[in-house]
Amino acid sequence: MSELSLIDGLAVIVGAAHVASAGDLSLYERDWRGRIAGRALAVVRPATTEQVAAVVRLCAAAGVSIVPQGGNTGLVGGSVPDDSGRQVVLQLGRMSAIREIDPENLTVTVEAGCVLQNLQSSMRDAGFLFPLRLGAQGSCMIGGNLATNAGGTQVLRYGNMRELCLGLEVVTPSGEVWNGLTGLRKDNTGYDLRDLFVGSEGTLGIITAATLKLFPLPAAVLTAWVSLASIQEAVALLSLAQRRLGADLTGFEVMERFGLELVARHMPQTRIPFFEDGASCNVLLECSSTRSEREALEALLEEAFEQSLVTNAVVAESLAQAQQLWQVREQIVLAQAQEGPNVKHDISLPISRIPAFVVRTRELLEAAIPGVRIANFGHLGDGNLHYNVQVPEGGDALAFLQSHEAQIMDLVYRSVSDFGGSFSAEHGVGGLKVHKLEQYKCPTALRLMRAIKDAVDPAQTMNPGRVLARGGAPEATVG
Ligand code: FAD
Repeated sequence: MSELSLIDGLAVIVGAAHVASAGDLSLYERDWRGRIAGRALAVVRPATTEQVAAVVRLCAAAGVSIVPQGGNTGLVGGSVPDDSGRQVVLQLGRMSAIREIDPENLTVTVEAGCVLQNLQSSMRDAGFLFPLRLGAQGSCMIGGNLATNAGGTQVLRYGNMRELCLGLEVVTPSGEVWNGLTGLRKDNTGYDLRDLFVGSEGTLGIITAATLKLFPLPAAVLTAWVSLASIQEAVALLSLAQRRLGADLTGFEVMERFGLELVARHMPQTRIPFFEDGASCNVLLECSSTRSEREALEALLEEAFEQSLVTNAVVAESLAQAQQLWQVREQIVLAQAQEGPNVKHDISLPISRIPAFVVRTRELLEAAIPGVRIANFGHLGDGNLHYNVQVPEGGDALAFLQSHEAQIMDLVYRSVSDFGGSFSAEHGVGGLKVHKLEQYKCPTALRLMRAIKDAVDPAQTMNPGRVLARGGAPEATVG
């Protein structure tokens, strides 16, 4: 089949207005950070599951591979095409309906192209909480969240996307539809296909809809900002908070000083509490409850003061104040981007080993590459750090990255491995980390993963070269 007849065929399925093969496609071809770009044969935007299945069958017949795409906020280059100009980007934004809310079962069935923030607010209006919360929530979509097993700031209490998902609807690489939209909380009937597709980053099929868990809206959400001498005290405070607040502890974010300095430099309008007092570490702590928990939170902070774990603390007095505190945390990523290129590491470690990891890795980095600056922040409650390395101040940042990026990554990932951690906590593998998977994953696990890929997608048309290497280097261009 020629490229032209494939594009004509796609237009017949979804309507000519929803297929683009010429003009500026950079919105779909370039990743969020603007560092990874490819070239698409076409971008196709189906509106129904049947259309997705027909597109997949047509592409399979033409031998053309597909890159599923949601909000394109992924940070590992999994959602953009390679530079062959032979891949079709299948973007799910038109499939954004909330199909059904089941109030007694506490579930919602929603299509893959629904933007996360829209789901959160629709559920709030209906009197429920959908708890997944992350910095890209205004753009990322439910299908992308499932395909990456997204985490975010509430995992401590509610789990990541895998834990929030009860059922899936998936179009397989051959174009069949698997309707697994069950709202069952128990279903031991063989291999768990849902768990296979969650976190598969578009390499096993296209998620078109999901049945997700809902929760009652908490009666009270309290947010506190706390300063501490070091990450060692932050780990001790986490442990104390878990003992005192139990399941009411919903968020525990750590921010070392340099990330906040970047926010102060690039977003001077942002008020950062107690930034002046020289504390090297700050924590944003959130607890949610079905009853008011202010006394419990204040008692926790008093105890933390008595044990000299914290040097300063404030509890937000209003929702607006709480939102301001969260904004500081969320702006670190944007402030880093404004400061210039940096090397991102989304890592997880046993919480108990984090203080030693932080001290050791900083020593190694500073000895190997003088002048590097470390923006270390993240979801301490989940043992997940965004351990980002900013290039030294001044000089040619891109040239520096070209000569030092691989060295920085190797050093950090080796240290992560030494401390028993993972090189990808929540962002996935994508195209950017396929070689890290080869390097750090147990060979038996890798063999099983390849066997699954070959069984489900024998023609290798679903996002090839992502997660598992396809005969060598990742294909998109890192610029
Ligand atoms: P995309 O980027 O479009 O795609 C991601 C991957 O999923 C690709 O491999 C793609 O092929 C595949 N995919 C997309 N849709 C489908 C589908 N329907 N079926 C099959 N495969 C599909 N992530 C976190 O986990 N926690 C965070 O706290 C967090 N914070 C972030 C903050 C910022 C500012 C940014 C930019 C990103 C952040 N991320 C975070 C990363 C990103 O937002 C998540 O990975 C998100 O889940 C991706 O969703 P998306 O719709 O943008 O997916």
